[in-house]
Amino acid sequence: MSSHDQRQGWNYGAPFYLMQGIGLAGLFVFPFDGTAALLVFLTYTVRMFGITAGFHRYFSHRGFKTGRIFQFILAFLGSATAQRGVIWWSGHHMDHHRLSDTDKDVHSPKKGLMWAHMLWMLAPENHGTEDKRIRAWRHSPEIIWIDRNWIVAPVTLAVGLLLSGGLAWVYWGFFFSTLLTWHGTFSINSLAHIWGQRRYKTKDTSRNNFWLALITLGEGWHNNHHHYASTANNGFFWWEVDISYMVLRVLAFFGVVWDLRTPPRWVLEGKRRRSDRTPTALLKPPVATPEGQSLPAHTPASVVVES
Ligand SMILES: [Zn+2]
Ligand SMILES: [Zn+2]
Repeated sequence: MSSHDQRQGWNYGAPFYLMQGIGLAGLFVFPFDGTAALLVFLTYTVRMFGITAGFHRYFSHRGFKTGRIFQFILAFLGSATAQRGVIWWSGHHMDHHRLSDTDKDVHSPKKGLMWAHMLWMLAPENHGTEDKRIRAWRHSPEIIWIDRNWIVAPVTLAVGLLLSGGLAWVYWGFFFSTLLTWHGTFSINSLAHIWGQRRYKTKDTSRNNFWLALITLGEGWHNNHHHYASTANNGFFWWEVDISYMVLRVLAFFGVVWDLRTPPRWVLEGKRRRSDRTPTALLKPPVATPEGQSLPAHTPASVVVES
């Protein structure tokens, strides 16, 4: 496999575990007060939106359209969680849909819960990004730039917090909050494949889970999502809380995003349609234009459903 290695000469394991250590040790150093609560809330929710709406629903699944500026903002917000580059992230996620819970799935919980949760991304064989994934973004060179230089985003946040409020702000708004965004995001790869209900008989082990949906701003409706991936919403029914989709609806009202894709009725009912079997990952790569993404003509189901 031809690939661009994003390690850039340093090992991911050390900084990864160092972040966890600082995130926990700081609890005994910096008092938790109202300011800390506000900082954690803001830096968690805004960046988690960058992951759910940005890295996941836009860059991986093209669930809506937007322009170059907001596209970059989404990439920057997601990058600020320090989960590596947006093209690396979305490429591996598309592979997860294509190969869910098979031997080739990079983070199936069948290989162990901690492997699915976080160890998979430390394995050297998962450090690279396929060249074709990067080429797909050649019309948006700023996305390729932020993919390679993703570290700029978390450093900008940390330095901004340091200059604004000192070490305590850096701890709560960056170290502690980042740890929450990590384990919130990672829980979809681990817990959302073992804990919850299965509405649709997908070929994988995905589940719907209210609590995971709450902490990830909507991603916990993971069985819905494996059933039909290319949508702006993962909560398919009004009672399935999906905060990212609510925010996207507001942004659509103001014209920041548009063409929000939602599942058609036959998908909601769990019916099978032969013409819609193409996995998301096999779709043509997105081509960014100044007006946004050009999308495939129809939205296929990511997973065939047994009726
Ligand atoms: Zn999954
Ligand atoms: Zn997905």
